[in-house]
Amino acid sequence: MLADGTRIDAPVVINVAGPHSSQINAMAGADRDMKISTRALRQEVVHLPAPENVDNYASFATVTSDSDAVIYTRPETGNNILIGSEDPPCDTHQYVDPDNYDRDFSDQWTLQAQRLGQRFPGIGIPSSPKGCVDLYDVTEDWIPIYDRSCVDGFYLACGSSGNQFKNAPVAGKAMAELVEYCESGNDHDAIPARERRS
Ligand SMILES: Cc1cc2nc3c(=O)[nH]c(=O)nc-3n(C[C@H](O)[C@H](O)[C@H](O)COP(=O)(O)OP(=O)(O)OC[C@H]3O[C@@H](n4cnc5c(N)ncnc54)[C@H](O)[C@@H]3O)c2cc1C
Repeated sequence: MLADGTRIDAPVVINVAGPHSSQINAMAGADRDMKISTRALRQEVVHLPAPENVDNYASFATVTSDSDAVIYTRPETGNNILIGSEDPPCDTHQYVDPDNYDRDFSDQWTLQAQRLGQRFPGIGIPSSPKGCVDLYDVTEDWIPIYDRSCVDGFYLACGSSGNQFKNAPVAGKAMAELVEYCESGNDHDAIPARERRS
């Protein structure tokens, strides 16, 4: 049902609602046998100006994953460095209502900026924070769900857990094959559909 009241009947529905996936699963009654759930996890992303002597950070820097400092980085427009968290257990994980959460930066922003400072000791930390606050759709094991559900015709492609952006084409093809397999009468639970790519 759309917001304007339009009703669309479809034999197959795939839940790709991102951080709202658990709400949609509950609406469909698809969550009643799920052993792995999805939850909206609040994330703060930091944008810091590149060090003063670096005119074009993007020209030499690339994506980094720094598991000692528990941050990842990439160049951001405006000669900035983007710093995201690798979500270590010592940080507070805020699972939130995706329709009602704090969009302001917190001490987590400063913590991530200081973590970059371990690698760039001279980096400045501006008094007005820049970046964004948004949501991951996270499963307990941080592995996405591409599956059928206990409701016939209702499928799941959710719980991307902060990654999977670049997997979208493969995920789409795999889901199409899964739907075709199940809708043709095959029992995916007894004999799982198999995806083979060379
Ligand atoms: C801060 C941040 C950094 C990230 N960094 C990376 C990264 O570096 N690399 C990477 O691979 N991934 C990254 N991700 C994860 C990546 O963005 C997601 O995995 C990807 O966007 C998931 O795509 P999706 O289409 O499944 O869901 P989404 O992009 O979340 O789309 C879901 C859509 O469903 C819509 N929707 C929800 N409920 C309803 C409803 N009831 N009716 C109609 N529409 C509805 C929403 O409006 C939304 O448009 C990051 C995510 C965040 C938040």
